[in-house]
Amino acid sequence: MASIRPSVPPRPSPGPKTGPSKVLIVDDTPTNIDVLVEALADEHEIMVATGARQGLDLALTHQPDLILLDIMMPEMDGYTVCKRLKADVRTQEIPIVFMTALSSVENEEQGLLLGAIDYITKPFNPTLVRLRVRNHLEFKHLRDWYKNLSNRDGLTGIANRRHFDDTLHLEWRRADRAGAPLALVIGDIDYFKAYNDHYGHAKGDDCLRQVARALAAEATRPGDLVARIGGEEFGCLLPGTDLDGAKLVAERLLWAVRGLGIVHAHSGVAPLVTVSLGVATVWPRHETEQVRLMELADQNLYRAKAQGRNQCVWSPPGD
Ligand code: GH3
Ligand code: MG
Ligand code: MG
Repeated sequence: MASIRPSVPPRPSPGPKTGPSKVLIVDDTPTNIDVLVEALADEHEIMVATGARQGLDLALTHQPDLILLDIMMPEMDGYTVCKRLKADVRTQEIPIVFMTALSSVENEEQGLLLGAIDYITKPFNPTLVRLRVRNHLEFKHLRDWYKNLSNRDGLTGIANRRHFDDTLHLEWRRADRAGAPLALVIGDIDYFKAYNDHYGHAKGDDCLRQVARALAAEATRPGDLVARIGGEEFGCLLPGTDLDGAKLVAERLLWAVRGLGIVHAHSGVAPLVTVSLGVATVWPRHETEQVRLMELADQNLYRAKAQGRNQCVWSPPGD
């Protein structure tokens, strides 16, 4: 018998989103998977895991926009999978919808208390599943969009101070766990007050945009982050980078700004806009404070300014 899929009219998407959404289905029962795939595959990119561990792996490696998670599975139940996803910073933001034949209030409550956003019971009604999934994805994309907006500096479009602080915190803990180094380069435009005074604030803003773009283009490894952390001050966070690596990046940053060739007739150091850079590397430990990395980079920036500007200064790795 031919199946007729009830038609659900598409709704306009809320924010700028590119490509189809990724939905991960974790269920050990093939017939359930078939029903869900049939209901969702023409609208979304579907990934399927037939066991809990495979589900955890796919969530981590493919970063789906939504997870439909079965509760009763042989190797590990859905509640445990949910707890693990929520405990990992890399997967904790992915919305989870529980699916089960159990429909008692306690089960529903337990799922929602673990951080799931919704709960659907079997047997599935394909139309309701389609609509619910669509609603949750719309909400997810809106949230991503606002989060991205709140992490960006309005003037230059690169990461802002808030995002920098959050990332520093995250990378600090990661480096501590991995026993890896963490490097920071802080850069500050030389004689920028004189630039503003002479060329005007609008030109000053334009200069900041160009410098931001040039710096961001030099930190290219996954995990590297360039942010505007003050008026004309930039932070470049380099996870897993030792002092030699950080010195190389700092040299590139220095040349990237010089290479812009922005005329600065009132600089005390060069006929062009330049930056001074302070470089620091630490091996994070529980007992050492996160602020230490900022302090070390700041001290070296101060030395770079005092020694004549338009240069980078580093010190032996702190502990
Ligand atoms: P130094 O070489 O020691 O760094 O001197 P400086 O003049 O660059 O530093 P100072 O801290 O004295 O001045 C920073 C100036 O940066 C002040 C302000 O005119 C400018 N500035 C800060 N934020 C902005 C901004 O958003 N737009 C513009 N156009 N200028 C800004
Ligand atoms: Mg300055
Ligand atoms: Mg400054």
